[in-house]
Amino acid sequence: MNDANLHTHKKDILIIDDTADNLRVLSAILIREGYNVRKALNWQMALTACKTVLPDLILLDIMMPEIDGYEVCRRLKDWEKTQDIPVIFVSALDDVFDKVKAFQAGGVDYITKPFEFEEVLVRVQNQIALRDTRLEILHLNAELEKRVKTRTQELEETLYKLQIEMSSRRELQTKLLDIALHDSLTGLPNRVLFIRQLEKSLNRAKQDCNYQFAVLFLDCDRFKIVNDSLGHFVGDELLVAISRRIQLSLSPFDTLARFGGDEFAILLENITSIEMAIDVADRIKQKLSLAFKLSRYEVFMNASIGISWGSPSYDKPEYLLRDADTAMYRAKSLGRARYHVFDPDMHKKAIELLELENDLRRAVERQEFIIYYQPIVLLKTGKIAGFEALVRWQHPTRGLILPTDFIPAAEEMGLIYPINTWIFQTVCQQLYTWQRNTKFPQDITISINLSARLFSNHNLVSIIDNIIYQTKINPDHIELEITESVIMENSDAVKNILQELKQRKFKLVIDDFGTGYSSLSYLHSFPLNSLKIDKSFVKIMQENQENMGLVPAMIGISHSMGMRAIAEGIETPEQLAQLRSLNCDLGQGYLFSKPIKPELVLEFLDTKPKW
Ligand code: C2E
Ligand code: MG
Ligand code: MG
Repeated sequence: MNDANLHTHKKDILIIDDTADNLRVLSAILIREGYNVRKALNWQMALTACKTVLPDLILLDIMMPEIDGYEVCRRLKDWEKTQDIPVIFVSALDDVFDKVKAFQAGGVDYITKPFEFEEVLVRVQNQIALRDTRLEILHLNAELEKRVKTRTQELEETLYKLQIEMSSRRELQTKLLDIALHDSLTGLPNRVLFIRQLEKSLNRAKQDCNYQFAVLFLDCDRFKIVNDSLGHFVGDELLVAISRRIQLSLSPFDTLARFGGDEFAILLENITSIEMAIDVADRIKQKLSLAFKLSRYEVFMNASIGISWGSPSYDKPEYLLRDADTAMYRAKSLGRARYHVFDPDMHKKAIELLELENDLRRAVERQEFIIYYQPIVLLKTGKIAGFEALVRWQHPTRGLILPTDFIPAAEEMGLIYPINTWIFQTVCQQLYTWQRNTKFPQDITISINLSARLFSNHNLVSIIDNIIYQTKINPDHIELEITESVIMENSDAVKNILQELKQRKFKLVIDDFGTGYSSLSYLHSFPLNSLKIDKSFVKIMQENQENMGLVPAMIGISHSMGMRAIAEGIETPEQLAQLRSLNCDLGQGYLFSKPIKPELVLEFLDTKPKW
């Protein structure tokens, strides 16, 4: 039933009464009021009437033969279709009317006979209005329920969509997190995740004294060469293969991480001694020492490993890692393809190195360097033939620092360019000044050391040209000392540079000869003037009275290649005598003089020393 029906259609009233008179009177009143009235004389007729059309209201007489009004009412209330239709009982005054019974049977009101018309109408109207309202409420309820239902359904659908959205977001989040915490090439944990794990281990070790752990820091040796020569694709393939091999050397409890580049870190848990960590390092080293058969190449790759013990006294996981890193660098400087266990002394050294680097930068700006000169003696005459310029660093607090203590760091930091250029320039200026002094023999030469690093700078020759031009020096009086490593590469670029220097009349000397690996065939193809025999061979010569070690052979090589031999580190008259007997051309060493300050050089020459 819709709202319109509810209010507009004629209300249908069913009167159930066995007395025809009553029926007539009642129906007349109601019809006059605009109701549709139907009549039934008993239950049977009433039932038929209801089955045809359901009335809006029933007026029910109590006193009826066979089935009385109470029973009719009960039956109407029992039948689902009629149970909502309001029933008003109608009773004669003289009837024994039981109101309680009437309400219990389901009646909603009662009217007594003889009828007051007004009363009948009001009660009928009331009940019909009540029923209408109830039906409307029911209708609204149903409507509401329907709406709630669709709303609920909509909500459920939205919820479902939301859940899908949420789970896909969650998936994405874990994926992102995974990316953020893992290395994309190898799939291994990255530095961030590793440090988290390390922090957990450190915290656990602080609480549980039985828990012990160690950190390994691994860096591949000369990995850059593979990358540079075979390409990054091969480099990547190699890194993946390396990570697999390392993983195979570990237990499932250990954590392997890649820190980017060719660096890996390993957290070893459940170990009881540093020896166990060393065993793992050994195992890794062995696994890595076998050839890597990549898709197109076979490559050999070693690694240097630093080990630090997970002492609970560490404040931060980063410190542990730093120490393993320091130990790794130590392993590298000790010759690579090995492991090194960190000891606290190394940390001190690392800090010192850092300070040195800082100071060195400042030293370049402030030009804190000075040059000492060590005489070189022509052994045949015993007279001074030249000097070697040797740099020192006048450190503001640490005093005089020797080149072996800062040149390697300067090379590492790229500071060797400004330093060595300054030395070159200063020595040339000095020589120019000396040459203007009558006390200074005009045939004296000065040797300048050139770091191997300088030869990777293609401007080297023009820098030197510039210095010659500025200082007006004649290169004929200058010897350039280079180490074997420079010519070891046998590269055309280096050959060209040396050739150009040679054209400018510089003399070229191989310094520390015998300590490198120069091949004699290479030596031959370079425009060299002298070989400077390293002091370690001169030293052995003295201990080895009978065969004199390799020195005679080195002098022989020099002469056979048309070069002069210079012996370095001559400290005793015996060494001098031996070298003279071997026809060594020149000598240098404490026996003659230690390196001296430039102010003392003229004075020194003035004494006309002779050995
Ligand atoms: P080097 O070129 O082989 O220089 C010879 C080193 O041996 C000098 O050490 C010198 O003082 C030392 N020496 C000389 N006679 C004796 C001796 O009788 N006994 C002993 N035990 N040692 C002796 P220094 O001055 O400490 O220099 C060390 C190294 O630093 C040099 O070795 C050279 O490679 C490098 N160096 C020095 N000055 C310069 C420079 O101006 N530029 C560059 N790039 N390197 C330099
Ligand atoms: Mg030298
Ligand atoms: Mg030397």
